[in-house]
Amino acid sequence: MQLLDFALSIPSSPLCVLAEVGSISSVTSLPFNPIKLVCLVSWIYLCLYFVQRIQFSPLVPHRYKPVAYIVALFAGPILLLLLLIVDTARKSSETGDGIFETIRQQVKQVVAGMRSARLRRDTKDPTIKLLDSSGRSINDIYGHGDARRQESHVLELTEQIIANALEHRASDILIDPVDELTSTIRLRIDGVLRTVKTVKAEICKAVVNSIKAVSSMDISEKRRPQDGAFIAKKGEMTASFRVASAGVLSGEKLSIRVLNQDAGTFSLADAGLSEKQCSIIQKAVSKPSGMVLMCGPTGSGKTTTMYAMLNAIDAFTRNVITVEDPIEAVLPKASQIEINPKADITFAKTLRSVLRQDPDVICVGEIRDEETAEIALRASQTGHLVLATVHSDSNASALVRLMDLGVSPLLLSSGLSLLISQRLLRLLCERCKQPAQLNKSLIHEFRLKGIDSTNMFDAEGCKHCEGTGYYGRTPICDIMVVTSQLKADIADSKALIAELRTKGKRKDRSRLRREGLKKVAVGITSLKEVKRVVG
Ligand SMILES: [Zn+2]
Repeated sequence: MQLLDFALSIPSSPLCVLAEVGSISSVTSLPFNPIKLVCLVSWIYLCLYFVQRIQFSPLVPHRYKPVAYIVALFAGPILLLLLLIVDTARKSSETGDGIFETIRQQVKQVVAGMRSARLRRDTKDPTIKLLDSSGRSINDIYGHGDARRQESHVLELTEQIIANALEHRASDILIDPVDELTSTIRLRIDGVLRTVKTVKAEICKAVVNSIKAVSSMDISEKRRPQDGAFIAKKGEMTASFRVASAGVLSGEKLSIRVLNQDAGTFSLADAGLSEKQCSIIQKAVSKPSGMVLMCGPTGSGKTTTMYAMLNAIDAFTRNVITVEDPIEAVLPKASQIEINPKADITFAKTLRSVLRQDPDVICVGEIRDEETAEIALRASQTGHLVLATVHSDSNASALVRLMDLGVSPLLLSSGLSLLISQRLLRLLCERCKQPAQLNKSLIHEFRLKGIDSTNMFDAEGCKHCEGTGYYGRTPICDIMVVTSQLKADIADSKALIAELRTKGKRKDRSRLRREGLKKVAVGITSLKEVKRVVG
């Protein structure tokens, strides 16, 4: 019954009733839900029943009977139409798109959903195995064999959710309670969150428990935040997952991060950087010392670019040590250390011990505090190449952030050699992109800026891209070489900080936008996407 309950869960919009027939939301793989079929048949039966009652009812005058028949037959569809109008108006006001654009998008999603459901029925692969860090399967940990049937359904559902996330290249799976009765399962695909299912809270709790069990977390602890990890095996492929739980107002929230195992194999060009950018970075990482600082918000692909930089370093002649939280992918030529703040293995402490191991290149997963920043910058001045990331939205804010942390401007100016600020843009789906319809003033504006607008495309949507119009992502980078002039400006911190705070962020943003427009001009991404990411 659990799976049927799951299938019966209330959709968030009337169109979802249709979309659920099989979009990526069909984690249950029940594309033609029997319950919904029964509801439809009952509805038709009720319409016919009322028509028959009207026919023999003395209360309805004979001349009004044809009108009454029409009302009885069309009451249901009219109600559905009204619901659709209200829902479309709501979505249109939320997204800012026009009514017709919203209707077009919704219809496209439904059509793409139905097509992908048909595909999935043919390609359903139940062989995914979820294992804890010691290799025990989820069945052994949580299933207790076949004795508890209800739990075997839950495990099946958990496996389907994970398989679905892998199939759709999701970077995160979010399981959130909405209220006491319902929870949502969302996937972040190409950086955009999509609600894939609304589930009954009771079933969702069991799914959350099974994931917590396989991630070696305490099932009975619902409020205190916990961390864990598990792996999934499907044929030859192995994927790692990082799990974080937290008690929220209406229950327990679970965030699962899918670690990108391929990230360790990319070169700078594979990671999507231009030839000029590759050569600037290559020059910086070939030097024996200095710090290359990657800036960007969460999910901006900093780690992938960092791994690509490490791959550009000759690790056979240089001793490469990384300090990360967590280790996202295996780098065969580097020594990787994972920090564990709970066990008091912090970035700062690990860095100190790493420095005693005679490294040539040190990679610092993230600079979060003054101590880590200072050790890393000092190392970059004493014959070590340091690659680090800092959570900030531009190069200017990264400099301000480090100074705010308490790092001395002198240390900063002598240590830094390169700053890279990065964002990810979704790539247009090659199978369905359409030539962009630009108005005359926009074409004129591009001409004034020297941008060729003849090869611009817009998103359309097909079954390959699940109706979104996008497939995969590419980075845009704003690279700032720390010249001797900039070093002098950083050392004289007050004047620079004032300028960075007022103009720096805006300048960085416009440089990123220009990088984005270059990619729009060659037809690999859209103007809308650049606007969404850079503003
Ligand atoms: Zn497409």
